[in-house]
Amino acid sequence: MEKINRILDLIAVCMRRSVHWLIHPISVFVILQILWVAMVVLWVVWFAGISEDLKNVALAVPWKWKEHQENALILLVIGCVLIGMLAVGTVVLFTFGQRQSAVIRQQRTFLSSVTHELRSPLAALQLALETLKRPGISSAAFQTILENGAIDIERLKRLIDQILVSSRFDRGLLPFDSTTEDVNIQLLITGIINDVARQSSAPLNQIELSCPDSLQLKTIQPALELILNNLIENALKYSKPDANIKISASEFNEHLLITIKDQGIGLDGRERRKIFRMFHRSSRAVKMAIPGTGLGLFIANSAAKVLSGKIWAESKGIGKGSTFYVSLPLNMKA
Ligand code: ADP
Repeated sequence: MEKINRILDLIAVCMRRSVHWLIHPISVFVILQILWVAMVVLWVVWFAGISEDLKNVALAVPWKWKEHQENALILLVIGCVLIGMLAVGTVVLFTFGQRQSAVIRQQRTFLSSVTHELRSPLAALQLALETLKRPGISSAAFQTILENGAIDIERLKRLIDQILVSSRFDRGLLPFDSTTEDVNIQLLITGIINDVARQSSAPLNQIELSCPDSLQLKTIQPALELILNNLIENALKYSKPDANIKISASEFNEHLLITIKDQGIGLDGRERRKIFRMFHRSSRAVKMAIPGTGLGLFIANSAAKVLSGKIWAESKGIGKGSTFYVSLPLNMKA
């Protein structure tokens, strides 16, 4: 009896799974395609089967038969075109639906990561304030709590700025003034390295910079800062705490080429195609609980486009580090 119950349970599970599989959009799409192709084939077979009889009937009225024969080819072509259009239409609708559901999934991931990112500094600040309320706190402890509180507030501000900046880019607006100016690349990158290392408490000697001190670029500085900030922050975030990061900048074909090479978690081909999309976070990054919102590379890519430049990533695969490239015209036209 127990065995029968177990078998019945197994059948119920299998049925539940197969129903679940059957109502999946991909299965529904494939089944629909099979159904309408089968329908057309059946109609053609049926028509071919009775066409002899139809011919005999038509031959009884010879002037009509000739007319039908002339129209047959045109009808065949129109039929093929209509079927082709139906097929293209369903594929377009299906692709659109798939994209929409991917965006909804990404927005869900974004909402959960952003809530987490907002909660942790707020919880730390709340704890700090409660500690400060306690009587007899030493001035050294007081100072440390204030400094940590300032770091948490800066983290919150950066996150909120990131959301505002990406929302402006998404609406086709610029989050900065678009005046171009001459920028010394070595000075700019050194400043950004210092900032990012301080924010992520990384030792400065972890990041190596190779850049001629005379390298100048005429560009929109806030846009370039957005690009470099996000790429250097990611290089640290997606690497082991002590891993080395190499940044280089050089002139190449009237362009400035900046490379940021890390020894971190790397990227596979599929990830590489998606990482610049808004809200996109790889499932590996989520599983490894690496903090993030999926906005950094979208911002970097949008800023590179404003500067008439390009940004792309290369990697030898998972666990083999990544290199991000930024190419910008040396003399951006205002
Ligand atoms: P976030 O880092 O907040 O998730 P980003 O837009 O900066 O968002 O990055 C999008 C995704 O690209 C990340 O979730 C991660 O999977 C991948 N990625 C970005 N930079 C690196 C890197 N240096 N090494 C490996 N993966 C990276």
